[in-house]
Amino acid sequence: MIMNCIDIRTNLEKIKNSITDVERLSGRETGSVKLLAVSKFHPVESVIDAIKAGQVMFGENRVQEAFSKFEEIYKTYPKTELHIIGTLQKNKVGHAVKICSCIESVDRLDLIQEIEKYCLSNNKTIRILFEYHTGEDSKSGFTSYESLEEAVAYCAEGKSPHVIPSGFMTMAPFTKDEKVIHTSFSSMRKTAEKICQEFPQFSMENLSMGMSEDYRIAIEEGATEVRIGTAIFGEREYPAS
Ligand SMILES: *Cc1c(COP(=O)(O)O)cnc(C)c1O
Repeated sequence: MIMNCIDIRTNLEKIKNSITDVERLSGRETGSVKLLAVSKFHPVESVIDAIKAGQVMFGENRVQEAFSKFEEIYKTYPKTELHIIGTLQKNKVGHAVKICSCIESVDRLDLIQEIEKYCLSNNKTIRILFEYHTGEDSKSGFTSYESLEEAVAYCAEGKSPHVIPSGFMTMAPFTKDEKVIHTSFSSMRKTAEKICQEFPQFSMENLSMGMSEDYRIAIEEGATEVRIGTAIFGEREYPAS
């Protein structure tokens, strides 16, 4: 497998140094951007290599896969943090709530109700990010300001006390056109600022945006968290669907 010749520790160091460089170059405070290591489609061994190199936060986008990997990992490394970043089906919410501390891909109101239900029965709170649609070819995320606003308002009414709104997530379009990527991330930031003004009772300062190919642009546009997979773990071997 290609896995074996990938040096996860070195890759993590490179990425962290690069994040620090971009923070400095774009006038951001040092340490203001957190790194989420996206380990989807990579084996438990790779996650453990990253943990041993000091990585704490991981992202997975399939609940089933996340569950089978991190149930094991938590036993040995209980301080590990897992974020769910993929589109979430209602029937997966129960498992998601058990396994993660943050769901970044909340893209509709009924998901919040479902998360609340399982948080209540597990006696647990969960942080959520509202995923907002800013790029044409991404299919996920709230597609209008109004629908996003409605979901935040629902939380503000106190109907989901175990669900803690903590910020926003977006994906830029897959393009080499940097202007388009800038526009996508800056529209996320502006939307986030507007929502934060409207709902000052929540501290929604997390802006999760930027992946292996576009994290530099995301940091320039105000990301507080970048989600990096390939640049840490190497190419994914997608299972045949
Ligand atoms: C896979 C994935 C990432 C990481 O992508 P890379 O290009 O491998 O860095 C980030 N965010 C989401 C939502 C993903 O599904």
